[in-house]
Amino acid sequence: MKKLLFACTIFVLVSCKTLNSGTTLTPPPPTTPVVVEPSPQETPLRPKNIILMIGDGMGLTQISAGLYSNGMKLALEKFKHIGLHKCYADNDLITDSAAAATSFACGIKTYNGAIGLDAQEKPVKTILEYAEMKGLATGLVATSTIVHATPASFIAHQKVRSMYEEIAADFLNTEVDLFIGGGKKYFDRRVDKRNLLKELEEKGYQVASFLDEDLKEIQPNGKNFAYLTADSDPLPVAQGRDYLPHASKLSIDFLKDRSKEGFFLMIEGSQIDWGGHANDANYIITEMIDFDNSIAEVLKFAEEDGETLVIVTADHETGGFAIQKGSKPDSLVTAFTSDYHTADLIPVFAYGPGAEAFMGIYENTAIFDKMFAAFGWK
Ligand code: MG
Ligand code: ZN
Repeated sequence: MKKLLFACTIFVLVSCKTLNSGTTLTPPPPTTPVVVEPSPQETPLRPKNIILMIGDGMGLTQISAGLYSNGMKLALEKFKHIGLHKCYADNDLITDSAAAATSFACGIKTYNGAIGLDAQEKPVKTILEYAEMKGLATGLVATSTIVHATPASFIAHQKVRSMYEEIAADFLNTEVDLFIGGGKKYFDRRVDKRNLLKELEEKGYQVASFLDEDLKEIQPNGKNFAYLTADSDPLPVAQGRDYLPHASKLSIDFLKDRSKEGFFLMIEGSQIDWGGHANDANYIITEMIDFDNSIAEVLKFAEEDGETLVIVTADHETGGFAIQKGSKPDSLVTAFTSDYHTADLIPVFAYGPGAEAFMGIYENTAIFDKMFAAFGWK
Protein backbone atom coordinates (compact mmCIF):
# COMPACT_ATOMS: atom_id res chain seq x y z
CA MET A 1 0.00 0.00 0.00
CA LYS A 2 2.78 2.39 0.99
CA LYS A 3 4.55 1.48 -2.26
CA LEU A 4 1.41 2.20 -4.29
CA LEU A 5 0.90 5.57 -2.59
CA PHE A 6 4.51 6.48 -3.35
CA ALA A 7 4.07 5.49 -6.98
CA CYS A 8 0.87 7.57 -7.19
CA THR A 9 2.65 10.62 -5.76
CA ILE A 10 5.41 10.26 -8.31
CA PHE A 11 2.80 9.85 -11.06
CA VAL A 12 0.97 13.01 -9.99
CA LEU A 13 4.19 14.98 -9.79
CA VAL A 14 5.36 13.81 -13.19
CA SER A 15 1.93 14.54 -14.70
CA CYS A 16 1.95 18.02 -13.29
CA LYS A 17 5.36 18.58 -14.73
CA THR A 18 4.44 17.39 -18.20
CA LEU A 19 0.90 18.73 -18.36
CA ASN A 20 1.45 22.07 -16.75
CA SER A 21 5.15 22.69 -16.74
CA GLY A 22 4.69 26.46 -16.57
CA THR A 23 3.30 26.32 -13.05
CA THR A 24 5.29 23.44 -11.56
CA LEU A 25 8.70 24.52 -12.79
CA THR A 26 9.99 27.91 -11.75
CA PRO A 27 8.97 30.24 -14.54
CA PRO A 28 11.53 32.76 -15.78
CA PRO A 29 11.00 36.25 -14.33
CA PRO A 30 8.90 38.46 -16.62
CA THR A 31 11.10 40.62 -18.80
CA THR A 32 10.38 44.13 -19.87
CA PRO A 33 11.40 44.64 -23.48
CA VAL A 34 14.43 46.87 -23.67
CA VAL A 35 14.27 49.49 -26.39
CA VAL A 36 17.71 50.19 -27.78
CA GLU A 37 18.04 53.53 -29.47
CA PRO A 38 20.35 53.22 -32.45
CA SER A 39 23.33 55.49 -31.95
CA PRO A 40 25.22 56.94 -34.89
CA GLN A 41 28.49 55.53 -33.53
CA GLU A 42 27.23 51.94 -33.75
CA THR A 43 28.52 49.66 -36.47
CA PRO A 44 25.94 49.70 -39.25
CA LEU A 45 24.11 46.42 -39.77
CA ARG A 46 24.78 46.41 -43.47
CA PRO A 47 28.12 46.75 -45.19
CA LYS A 48 28.62 49.20 -48.00
CA ASN A 49 31.47 47.12 -49.39
CA ILE A 50 32.21 43.38 -49.48
CA ILE A 51 35.67 41.92 -49.99
CA LEU A 52 35.59 38.16 -50.57
CA MET A 53 39.02 36.57 -50.17
CA ILE A 54 39.48 32.99 -51.42
CA GLY A 55 42.52 30.94 -50.54
CA ASP A 56 42.33 28.24 -53.19
CA GLY A 57 42.91 24.83 -51.57
CA MET A 58 43.22 26.43 -48.13
CA GLY A 59 41.98 23.91 -45.56
CA LEU A 60 42.62 24.13 -41.82
CA THR A 61 45.96 22.32 -42.11
CA GLN A 62 47.19 24.83 -44.71
CA ILE A 63 46.19 27.62 -42.32
CA SER A 64 47.85 25.81 -39.38
CA ALA A 65 51.07 25.26 -41.30
CA GLY A 66 51.16 28.93 -42.27
CA LEU A 67 50.57 29.97 -38.68
CA TYR A 68 53.30 27.72 -37.19
CA SER A 69 55.76 28.84 -39.85
CA ASN A 70 54.97 32.52 -39.32
CA GLY A 71 56.00 32.83 -35.66
CA MET A 72 52.74 31.23 -34.42
CA LYS A 73 50.54 34.03 -35.69
CA LEU A 74 48.38 35.08 -38.63
CA ALA A 75 46.26 38.14 -39.45
CA LEU A 76 43.40 35.64 -39.72
CA GLU A 77 43.33 35.47 -35.91
CA LYS A 78 41.64 38.89 -35.83
CA PHE A 79 38.45 37.38 -37.18
CA LYS A 80 35.88 36.60 -34.48
CA HIS A 81 33.01 35.25 -36.57
CA ILE A 82 33.91 31.85 -37.92
CA GLY A 83 31.89 29.16 -39.66
CA LEU A 84 32.28 26.11 -41.88
CA HIS A 85 30.92 25.43 -45.35
CA LYS A 86 30.08 22.21 -47.17
CA CYS A 87 32.09 22.42 -50.36
CA TYR A 88 30.83 19.49 -52.47
CA ALA A 89 29.75 19.98 -56.10
CA ASP A 90 26.43 19.05 -57.71
CA ASN A 91 27.85 15.93 -59.35
CA ASP A 92 30.74 15.02 -57.06
CA LEU A 93 31.55 15.00 -53.34
CA ILE A 94 35.00 16.25 -54.37
CA THR A 95 34.57 19.70 -55.88
CA ASP A 96 36.86 21.51 -58.26
CA SER A 97 37.56 25.24 -58.13
CA ALA A 98 35.13 26.07 -60.93
CA ALA A 99 32.05 24.48 -59.35
CA ALA A 100 33.03 25.83 -55.92
CA ALA A 101 33.62 29.40 -57.10
CA THR A 102 30.38 29.28 -59.09
CA SER A 103 28.62 28.36 -55.83
CA PHE A 104 30.09 31.44 -54.12
CA ALA A 105 29.44 33.65 -57.14
CA CYS A 106 25.95 32.47 -58.10
CA GLY A 107 24.46 30.67 -55.08
CA ILE A 108 23.96 27.34 -56.85
CA LYS A 109 25.57 23.90 -56.85
CA THR A 110 26.87 22.95 -60.26
CA TYR A 111 29.06 20.38 -62.03
CA ASN A 112 32.84 20.33 -61.82
CA GLY A 113 34.33 22.51 -64.53
CA ALA A 114 31.34 24.87 -64.87
CA ILE A 115 32.07 28.61 -65.01
CA GLY A 116 29.02 30.64 -63.97
CA LEU A 117 26.57 28.02 -65.28
CA ASP A 118 24.09 25.83 -63.44
CA ALA A 119 23.95 22.03 -63.64
CA GLN A 120 21.83 22.34 -66.82
CA GLU A 121 24.53 24.59 -68.37
CA LYS A 122 22.35 27.70 -68.13
CA PRO A 123 24.15 30.98 -67.26
CA VAL A 124 23.44 32.31 -63.77
CA LYS A 125 24.00 35.93 -62.80
CA THR A 126 27.01 36.35 -60.51
CA ILE A 127 27.38 38.52 -57.42
CA LEU A 128 29.79 40.70 -59.41
CA GLU A 129 27.22 41.14 -62.17
CA TYR A 130 24.55 42.01 -59.60
CA ALA A 131 26.96 44.51 -58.07
CA GLU A 132 27.56 46.09 -61.49
CA MET A 133 23.81 46.21 -62.10
CA LYS A 134 23.23 47.92 -58.75
CA GLY A 135 25.86 50.56 -59.48
CA LEU A 136 28.66 49.30 -57.24
CA ALA A 137 32.28 49.31 -58.32
CA THR A 138 33.77 45.82 -58.82
CA GLY A 139 37.18 44.17 -58.93
CA LEU A 140 38.94 40.82 -59.31
CA VAL A 141 42.50 40.04 -58.19
CA ALA A 142 44.26 36.66 -58.49
CA THR A 143 47.71 35.10 -58.37
CA SER A 144 46.75 32.66 -61.13
CA THR A 145 45.73 33.82 -64.58
CA ILE A 146 42.68 36.09 -64.31
CA VAL A 147 40.80 33.63 -66.59
CA HIS A 148 41.47 30.71 -64.21
CA ALA A 149 38.45 28.96 -62.64
CA THR A 150 38.15 30.98 -59.43
CA PRO A 151 38.14 34.56 -60.78
CA ALA A 152 36.45 33.41 -64.02
CA SER A 153 33.40 32.12 -62.16
CA PHE A 154 32.60 35.65 -60.97
CA ILE A 155 32.57 37.22 -64.43
CA ALA A 156 32.26 34.59 -67.16
CA HIS A 157 29.77 31.93 -68.28
CA GLN A 158 31.39 28.97 -70.03
CA LYS A 159 30.76 25.22 -70.11
CA VAL A 160 34.35 24.18 -69.44
CA ARG A 161 36.92 25.91 -67.26
CA SER A 162 39.71 25.41 -69.80
CA MET A 163 38.01 27.68 -72.37
CA TYR A 164 40.41 30.46 -71.38
CA GLU A 165 40.07 32.56 -74.53
CA GLU A 166 36.26 32.48 -74.33
CA ILE A 167 36.48 33.42 -70.65
CA ALA A 168 38.79 36.34 -71.49
CA ALA A 169 36.27 37.55 -74.10
CA ASP A 170 33.56 37.50 -71.41
CA PHE A 171 35.49 40.25 -69.56
CA LEU A 172 34.45 42.56 -72.40
CA ASN A 173 30.78 41.83 -71.68
CA THR A 174 31.02 43.43 -68.23
CA GLU A 175 31.88 46.79 -66.77
CA VAL A 176 34.28 45.35 -64.17
CA ASP A 177 36.20 48.34 -62.80
CA LEU A 178 39.48 46.62 -62.06
CA PHE A 179 41.21 43.32 -62.62
CA ILE A 180 44.73 42.18 -61.81
CA GLY A 181 46.13 38.74 -62.60
CA GLY A 182 48.10 36.64 -65.09
CA GLY A 183 47.13 35.29 -68.51
CA LYS A 184 48.00 38.13 -70.88
CA LYS A 185 48.29 35.70 -73.79
CA TYR A 186 44.57 34.84 -73.59
CA PHE A 187 43.83 38.49 -74.28
CA ASP A 188 46.31 39.42 -76.98
CA ARG A 189 47.55 36.24 -78.70
CA ARG A 190 44.34 34.43 -79.52
CA VAL A 191 43.16 31.87 -82.04
CA ASP A 192 40.49 34.34 -83.24
CA LYS A 193 43.15 37.10 -83.64
CA ARG A 194 41.16 39.56 -81.51
CA ASN A 195 43.31 41.77 -79.32
CA LEU A 196 41.22 42.11 -76.18
CA LEU A 197 43.71 44.44 -74.51
CA LYS A 198 43.19 46.87 -77.37
CA GLU A 199 39.43 46.36 -77.14
CA LEU A 200 39.59 47.08 -73.41
CA GLU A 201 41.47 50.29 -74.13
CA GLU A 202 38.86 51.28 -76.70
CA LYS A 203 36.24 50.57 -74.06
CA GLY A 204 37.95 53.12 -71.82
CA TYR A 205 40.26 50.98 -69.72
CA GLN A 206 43.74 51.85 -68.59
CA VAL A 207 45.56 48.67 -69.64
CA ALA A 208 49.08 47.70 -68.60
CA SER A 209 51.14 44.58 -68.00
CA PHE A 210 54.32 43.27 -66.45
CA LEU A 211 56.03 44.11 -69.76
CA ASP A 212 55.31 47.83 -69.36
CA GLU A 213 55.77 48.63 -65.71
CA ASP A 214 55.88 46.94 -62.33
CA LEU A 215 52.46 47.09 -60.66
CA LYS A 216 54.07 48.99 -57.78
CA GLU A 217 55.17 51.78 -60.16
CA ILE A 218 51.77 52.23 -61.74
CA GLN A 219 49.32 54.98 -60.86
CA PRO A 220 45.73 54.26 -61.87
CA ASN A 221 44.54 57.30 -63.83
CA GLY A 222 40.86 57.11 -62.96
CA LYS A 223 39.72 54.98 -65.87
CA ASN A 224 38.76 51.34 -65.35
CA PHE A 225 41.98 49.44 -64.67
CA ALA A 226 43.32 46.18 -66.13
CA TYR A 227 46.80 44.89 -65.27
CA LEU A 228 48.20 41.57 -66.50
CA THR A 229 50.88 40.27 -64.14
CA ALA A 230 52.21 37.50 -66.39
CA ASP A 231 51.87 36.08 -69.87
CA SER A 232 50.58 32.80 -68.46
CA ASP A 233 50.62 31.71 -64.77
CA PRO A 234 52.30 34.17 -62.39
CA LEU A 235 55.34 32.82 -60.51
CA PRO A 236 55.06 31.25 -57.05
CA VAL A 237 56.02 33.52 -54.14
CA ALA A 238 59.10 31.35 -53.58
CA GLN A 239 60.32 32.32 -57.06
CA GLY A 240 59.82 36.03 -56.63
CA ARG A 241 56.13 36.91 -57.09
CA ASP A 242 55.24 39.59 -54.55
CA TYR A 243 52.28 41.53 -55.91
CA LEU A 244 49.28 40.20 -53.99
CA PRO A 245 49.48 42.34 -50.80
CA HIS A 246 50.20 45.44 -52.91
CA ALA A 247 47.47 44.59 -55.44
CA SER A 248 45.01 44.14 -52.58
CA LYS A 249 45.77 47.61 -51.21
CA LEU A 250 45.82 49.20 -54.66
CA SER A 251 42.44 47.65 -55.51
CA ILE A 252 40.83 48.91 -52.33
CA ASP A 253 42.28 52.43 -52.81
CA PHE A 254 41.01 52.35 -56.37
CA LEU A 255 37.51 51.02 -55.61
CA LYS A 256 36.68 52.73 -52.33
CA ASP A 257 35.64 56.12 -53.72
CA ARG A 258 34.53 54.93 -57.12
CA SER A 259 30.83 54.57 -56.40
CA LYS A 260 28.69 55.97 -53.62
CA GLU A 261 26.91 52.61 -53.67
CA GLY A 262 30.08 50.81 -52.50
CA PHE A 263 32.14 48.02 -54.04
CA PHE A 264 32.52 44.26 -54.40
CA LEU A 265 36.06 42.90 -54.63
CA MET A 266 37.22 39.27 -54.91
CA ILE A 267 40.87 38.56 -54.05
CA GLU A 268 42.27 35.07 -54.60
CA GLY A 269 45.42 33.48 -53.17
CA SER A 270 45.41 31.05 -56.09
CA GLN A 271 48.53 29.02 -55.56
CA ILE A 272 47.99 27.52 -52.08
CA ASP A 273 46.12 24.91 -54.14
CA TRP A 274 49.06 24.35 -56.46
CA GLY A 275 51.31 23.62 -53.49
CA GLY A 276 48.76 20.98 -52.45
CA HIS A 277 48.66 19.40 -55.92
CA ALA A 278 52.47 19.32 -55.91
CA ASN A 279 52.49 17.82 -52.37
CA ASP A 280 54.98 20.56 -51.55
CA ALA A 281 54.61 21.83 -47.97
CA ASN A 282 56.97 24.77 -48.48
CA TYR A 283 54.98 25.90 -51.54
CA ILE A 284 51.77 25.79 -49.46
CA ILE A 285 53.33 27.66 -46.53
CA THR A 286 54.88 30.48 -48.56
CA GLU A 287 51.64 31.01 -50.50
CA MET A 288 49.60 30.84 -47.28
CA ILE A 289 51.73 33.53 -45.60
CA ASP A 290 51.55 35.72 -48.72
CA PHE A 291 47.76 35.38 -48.69
CA ASP A 292 47.70 36.21 -44.98
CA ASN A 293 49.79 39.34 -45.65
CA SER A 294 47.09 40.37 -48.11
CA ILE A 295 44.43 39.66 -45.49
CA ALA A 296 46.37 42.01 -43.17
CA GLU A 297 46.22 44.78 -45.81
CA VAL A 298 42.50 44.26 -46.28
CA LEU A 299 41.82 44.25 -42.53
CA LYS A 300 43.80 47.46 -42.09
CA PHE A 301 41.31 49.13 -44.44
CA ALA A 302 38.23 47.38 -43.02
CA GLU A 303 39.13 48.39 -39.44
CA GLU A 304 39.38 52.05 -40.39
CA ASP A 305 36.46 52.04 -42.79
CA GLY A 306 33.89 50.30 -40.59
CA GLU A 307 31.51 49.78 -43.54
CA THR A 308 33.29 46.86 -45.14
CA LEU A 309 32.48 43.18 -44.68
CA VAL A 310 35.51 40.94 -45.23
CA ILE A 311 34.98 37.23 -45.81
CA VAL A 312 37.93 34.83 -46.03
CA THR A 313 37.36 31.25 -47.11
CA ALA A 314 38.55 28.52 -49.47
CA ASP A 315 36.89 26.59 -52.25
CA HIS A 316 38.15 23.23 -50.90
CA GLU A 317 41.19 21.63 -49.28
CA THR A 318 43.93 20.26 -51.51
CA GLY A 319 46.30 17.37 -50.82
CA GLY A 320 44.79 15.83 -47.69
CA PHE A 321 47.58 17.75 -46.00
CA ALA A 322 48.62 16.73 -42.46
CA ILE A 323 51.14 17.91 -39.86
CA GLN A 324 52.62 14.90 -38.10
CA LYS A 325 54.49 13.88 -34.96
CA GLY A 326 58.03 15.13 -34.72
CA SER A 327 56.96 18.56 -36.04
CA LYS A 328 58.39 21.76 -34.60
CA PRO A 329 57.01 25.21 -35.48
CA ASP A 330 59.95 25.92 -37.77
CA SER A 331 60.32 22.39 -39.14
CA LEU A 332 57.03 20.68 -39.81
CA VAL A 333 56.84 17.00 -40.59
CA THR A 334 54.10 16.85 -43.19
CA ALA A 335 52.27 14.24 -45.24
CA PHE A 336 49.69 14.15 -48.01
CA THR A 337 46.97 11.62 -48.76
CA SER A 338 46.18 12.90 -52.26
CA ASP A 339 47.45 15.02 -55.11
CA TYR A 340 43.92 16.33 -55.62
CA HIS A 341 41.18 18.09 -53.65
CA THR A 342 39.48 16.58 -50.60
CA ALA A 343 35.94 16.89 -49.19
CA ASP A 344 36.80 18.48 -45.82
CA LEU A 345 34.47 21.11 -44.38
CA ILE A 346 36.03 24.50 -45.12
CA PRO A 347 36.48 27.37 -42.66
CA VAL A 348 34.87 30.77 -43.25
CA PHE A 349 36.13 33.89 -41.42
CA ALA A 350 34.09 37.09 -41.42
CA TYR A 351 34.86 40.61 -40.17
CA GLY A 352 32.81 43.79 -40.17
CA PRO A 353 29.12 44.65 -40.43
CA GLY A 354 27.09 41.52 -41.17
CA ALA A 355 29.86 39.15 -40.04
CA GLU A 356 27.60 37.31 -37.54
CA ALA A 357 25.67 35.76 -40.43
CA PHE A 358 28.72 33.68 -41.36
CA MET A 359 28.77 31.67 -38.10
CA GLY A 360 27.55 28.07 -38.15
CA ILE A 361 27.71 25.27 -40.70
CA TYR A 362 26.11 25.77 -44.12
CA GLU A 363 26.37 25.02 -47.83
CA ASN A 364 28.99 26.83 -49.92
CA THR A 365 26.06 28.34 -51.85
CA ALA A 366 25.05 30.19 -48.66
CA ILE A 367 28.13 32.42 -49.06
CA PHE A 368 26.35 33.98 -52.05
CA ASP A 369 23.03 34.17 -50.17
CA LYS A 370 24.65 35.82 -47.16
CA MET A 371 26.57 38.38 -49.28
CA PHE A 372 23.39 39.13 -51.26
CA ALA A 373 21.43 39.64 -48.03
CA ALA A 374 24.25 41.67 -46.46
CA PHE A 375 24.10 44.14 -49.35
CA GLY A 376 20.35 44.40 -48.62
CA TRP A 377 19.40 43.18 -52.09
CA LYS A 378 16.14 41.39 -52.86
MG1 MG B 1 41.73 29.17 -58.07
ZN1 ZN C 1 43.16 22.49 -57.42
